[in-house]
Amino acid sequence: MSDSVDDANATQAHFNELQISKVRQAAKQMDAAATGYCLSCGQQITKSGQRWCNADCRDDWEKLKKRGLL
Ligand SMILES: [Zn+2]
Repeated sequence: MSDSVDDANATQAHFNELQISKVRQAAKQMDAAATGYCLSCGQQITKSGQRWCNADCRDDWEKLKKRGLL
């Protein structure tokens, strides 16, 4: 009896993990999308498809990303 409850909990935990990793993946992709504004400092960018206003902002953003802060 307790075994089947444990199995159910383990299955539920597994699905939760999957869901969380999917959401995280989607969030990462959104973070990296060009929005028309610098992803680091928020300055408006006129060139379409560009994600940062300059290399410094890109480097700062990548550092934060590597440290898991984004
Ligand atoms: Zn910037």
